[in-house]
Amino acid sequence: MKFDVLIVGAGLAGAALAAALRGSTLKIGIVEARPPSRPAGWDPRIYAISPTNADFLSAIGIWQHLDPTRMAPVYDMEIHGDAGGRLDFSAYDSGLRELAWILESSLMQQELWETVKRQHNVTLICPASPAALSIDDAAARLTLTDGRRIEARLVVAADGRDSWVRQAAGIGARNTPYDEKGVVANFRCEKAHRNTAFQWFRPDGVLAYLPLPEQHMSMVWSAPDAIADELVALSPEALCAKVAAAGGHRLGALELVTPAAAFPLRLMRVDTAVQARLALIGDAAHAIHPLSGHGINLGYQDARVLAEQLAALPAWRDPGELPVLRAYARARAEETALLQYTTHGLNRLFKPADPLLSGLRNLGLNLTNKLPVLRNALVRYAIAGRF
Ligand SMILES: Cc1cc2nc3c(=O)[nH]c(=O)nc-3n(C[C@H](O)[C@H](O)[C@H](O)COP(=O)(O)OP(=O)(O)OC[C@H]3O[C@@H](n4cnc5c(N)ncnc54)[C@H](O)[C@@H]3O)c2cc1C
Repeated sequence: MKFDVLIVGAGLAGAALAAALRGSTLKIGIVEARPPSRPAGWDPRIYAISPTNADFLSAIGIWQHLDPTRMAPVYDMEIHGDAGGRLDFSAYDSGLRELAWILESSLMQQELWETVKRQHNVTLICPASPAALSIDDAAARLTLTDGRRIEARLVVAADGRDSWVRQAAGIGARNTPYDEKGVVANFRCEKAHRNTAFQWFRPDGVLAYLPLPEQHMSMVWSAPDAIADELVALSPEALCAKVAAAGGHRLGALELVTPAAAFPLRLMRVDTAVQARLALIGDAAHAIHPLSGHGINLGYQDARVLAEQLAALPAWRDPGELPVLRAYARARAEETALLQYTTHGLNRLFKPADPLLSGLRNLGLNLTNKLPVLRNALVRYAIAGRF
């Protein structure tokens, strides 16, 4: 099999790249280990998607097909420090329709999958996994575990944090474990959330409530490993009581609708996002702390930018040329580094129990809250990537 672009991994980032290339003349192959599945009830993996990425998903024909009864806009956000600090964001004050959308990972995944399956210039090779990769001046060659051979002018690694392709290509990755897990669970709430997202920086981690339809909310509690393990082991009743108390009973009593699951957290920075005939996108290119809810938001923008660069090439240009790929890497470097350092810095800033530091960080939140220009600029940067 021969392709112009071979994408390994049809998760959110890889499938979005393929969908974004639907208007191009490029012949695309996708190697994916397993087709996506949609859990009964609410998916434990719920993501905050920025308006910029809602627009991107709309432009590639995905957003408009998502079930609107499974998505909630965020109009307001309250951030609480660990000693009385508070920062509020409002879509209305910032001149935006919403700050973010909250929805299930598998809702987007399913729609992306069905879309690329129907796409005229895509061949889905699934279930399949790579066993060997070799790259030379002429092409990249991938051998699958079942012996099939694929040749492509460009290979895109979209196979997640532990990317097989990245490792097979010898690209180094520096991992900084947080010794924390992101504990996620979904609840029905006694009180209306009014489309507000809440976040508490607590001595036992960062707790977030994200609004979902039908008076539901999704919890993400990034907690030190031992506390995270305790949370997952609690009975449903005890977990509800603990999460309600940790959130100051803001949404009243809670009823568990999706059991708790925990994901180990780490910062991952790669030595390079590109090589001749190879580009990394999504979690294969970067992993960040989920406290800002930006992981796949970065991945979608990787897909958008790479697709734009590839689609703009004249027919005689080789999509695997290093200068083409370097332009993609340069375009993505700033936002990726900024979010990695900001989320890492915030996580570190709110960790120590030192009372002086605690006073300073809470003062910082309160000061920012009193400066609407700075506050609104922060919202615009988080949403659109520019002040
Ligand atoms: C607790 C938690 C909360 C989060 N909340 C948010 C949030 O609110 N907003 C946000 O933007 N992000 C959030 N994230 C981050 C988000 O989960 C990731 O950034 C996102 O899932 C990465 O998508 P991806 O497509 O790059 O990789 P993945 O989702 O890992 O997809 C990789 C794909 O490649 C396939 N694959 C892997 N290896 C192979 C192989 N060898 N052969 C073939 N196929 C292979 C897999 O089957 C999969 O389909 C959160 C993460 C955590 C842990």
